[in-house]
Amino acid sequence: MSFREDGAAALEWVASYLERVGELPVLAQVEPGEIRSRLPASPPEQAEPFTNVLRDLDDVLLPGLTHWQSPRFFAYFASTASEPGILAELLVAGLNQVGILWRTSPALQELEELTLDWLAQLLGLPSGLHGHIEDTASTATMTALAAARHAKPGARVVVCSEHAHSSVEKACRLLALELRRAPVDDAFRLRPSELDLVGACAVVATVGTTSTSSVDPVAAIADAAARDGVWLHVDAAYAGSAAVCPELRHHFAGWERADSIVVNPHKWLFTPMDCSTLWTRRPDDLRAAFSLVPEYLRVSEEVASLSEYSPALGRRFRALKLWAVLRCYGREGLQERIREAIRLAGLFEGWVRDEPGWELAAPRPFSLVCFRREGSDEENEVLLERVNASGKIFLSHTKLNGRFALRLAVGSARTTEADVRLAWGVLRRCAA
Ligand SMILES: *Cc1c(COP(=O)(O)O)cnc(C)c1O
Repeated sequence: MSFREDGAAALEWVASYLERVGELPVLAQVEPGEIRSRLPASPPEQAEPFTNVLRDLDDVLLPGLTHWQSPRFFAYFASTASEPGILAELLVAGLNQVGILWRTSPALQELEELTLDWLAQLLGLPSGLHGHIEDTASTATMTALAAARHAKPGARVVVCSEHAHSSVEKACRLLALELRRAPVDDAFRLRPSELDLVGACAVVATVGTTSTSSVDPVAAIADAAARDGVWLHVDAAYAGSAAVCPELRHHFAGWERADSIVVNPHKWLFTPMDCSTLWTRRPDDLRAAFSLVPEYLRVSEEVASLSEYSPALGRRFRALKLWAVLRCYGREGLQERIREAIRLAGLFEGWVRDEPGWELAAPRPFSLVCFRREGSDEENEVLLERVNASGKIFLSHTKLNGRFALRLAVGSARTTEADVRLAWGVLRRCAA
C-alpha cells in the first residue's frame, strides 16, 4: 500500500466515523483493562501494513472510545474537532515543524502571532496584547502565574474563588505558591468584598467556572488588583469563545484590564485538541520568567522566539489548525454556532424549570445547565449512572452547596435541537 492509498483510507475512515458517531454509545461501555487485554503485549518483529492499524481501530479500540465527537456528548465541556481543524492537523503532522526558534520555522511563529491577533479581535480584546498558544489551560495558567511570581518577588500567595478550576491549585503546587480561596455568593461568583490580596502576587478571576459557568466580577477584581499591584489572570478556558458574540460581551467586562487571559479554542471554538490561547499585556514579565538562551540556540536575528515566553522549547504548528478554523467558519459562522448552543441550553433549561419533580441548581450565563431531581443525592447519582449506561447521552456532575447536581453542557458544533430533546427524553425515562 502506498502513502496515498493509506491516506485516502484514513480520511475515508474519519469521514464515515463522523457520519455514524451519533449512533455509537457516547460513553465507552468497557471495564478497566479490557481494551489492553485484547492487544498483543509485545510489539511486532516484522513491519505491518498500515491497514492493520485501521483494522484494530475498528475491531479493538472503537468500543474503548468515549465519543467526544458525538452530538450527544453533554459532559464536562464539549470539544469539537471540526472538519477544517481535522484536515489542518494532518498538514501539521505532515510538515512536522518544530518551533524552537524563529528561524526553525518563521511561518509557524508569525502565523501563531497573527492568528492570536485575529482571535483577540474576534473576542473584542484590546489591541497590542502578546499572544501565544499552549497545549492546555492548565499549562497556560501555570505560565501566567510563573510570570506573576517572577514579577513580584517575595509575594507567594495566589488568590482565586472556591469555584476556580483545579489547575490553579496545581500551578500553585508546582510553583511553590500558596493558594488562598475567596468565598462565593449565591450565584457562585467570587465576592469582591471578601477579597484579601495581602501578600499576593496574583489573583485569578474565572469567567465561566467549571462547575456552573458562573462569572466572577472581573471589573471589581481588576480594581482591587490594580490597587494592590497584583497580577490579574482571567481564566475563560470554556466561556471565552462566547465573546465572539457582542451581545455576550457584558459577561467579560473588565477582562480587557487583565495582565493575562486564557481561552481554550479546543473547548468551544471547534479546534481539535489541543489548543489553548494565552494573551498578556506584560510580555516582558513572561520573557523574564522563561527566557533562557544557551549558546547552541543563539542566533544573529533580533527576534525573540516564542519559547522565551513559555515552559516548552519545541512547539507544534498548532496555529495552522486554529487559523484554518477561523478562516473556514468566519466570524459569522462562529457566532452562529455559539448562539445555537446557548439557545439549545436555554430550551433544555426551560423544560427542567417547567417539569414538576425537577429543579435548576445554578443560574445559566452560557450553554451549561445545572439541574437535579428533587430528592436525595443518591437518587440523582443513580439517575446519572443509568443515563450514561444507556449510551444515548453522556452527562457529568458536580456538587453545589454540598448537593449533587447534574450538568448538561451544550457545545459541540454537531449538536442539534433533536439531540437535546432526546437527552431530555432519556433523563425523564430513566428518572421514572
Ligand atoms: C477546562 C477548564 C480548565 C482546564 O483546561 P485544560 O485545557 O484541560 O487544562 C481550566 N479552567 C477552566 C475554567 C476550564 O473550564
